[in-house]
Amino acid sequence: MDLEKVKQGTRLILEGIGEDADREGLVGTPARVASMYEDVFSGLGVDPASVLVPMPSDRHQEMVLLKDISFFSMCEHHLLPFYGLAHVAYIPSEGGKITGLSKLSRLVQVVARRPQLQERMTSTIADSMVGALDPLGVLVLVSAEHLCMSMRGIRSPGTRTVTSAVRGIFRSNAATRAEVLSLIRGRS
Ligand code: ZN
Repeated sequence: MDLEKVKQGTRLILEGIGEDADREGLVGTPARVASMYEDVFSGLGVDPASVLVPMPSDRHQEMVLLKDISFFSMCEHHLLPFYGLAHVAYIPSEGGKITGLSKLSRLVQVVARRPQLQERMTSTIADSMVGALDPLGVLVLVSAEHLCMSMRGIRSPGTRTVTSAVRGIFRSNAATRAEVLSLIRGRS
């Protein structure tokens, strides 16, 4: 990441909105914004599928669900945060591959930490899992609040946007899909 360029850009924005970029409160702001962006955009340049590290499994085809994975991302249209919870489920194929639970959580973070759209974030998580694990099915559900909706425009704080990506058996088998959705909604 070109931190110097981010600093220059931040200074230009401050000047553009009519602020004095050299006043005491703002003089360190371009450097702070640059290091913040380095953190919140740290998923850029990381291939999501590379995070998963597939392992062979002798276990049979049971569902794995990781729910309530909290994430923060940045809407690419406004560079304002959207944040919420991701729920990620898959069913390994017979003799197929599995991955560590922490790897699924890391996948969500890598995909979130870049200028992003919630719809694309959701399908990228699902397709990365399909590509790396070749499972029987994948279901990803993301629920998020977008500050570009809460702070500006129609101003509707508390509104949540829900997106899903459904692949394989979760798409073709309504009972399997209903089972995972009730597990996601339930309290256990
Ligand atoms: Zn937006």
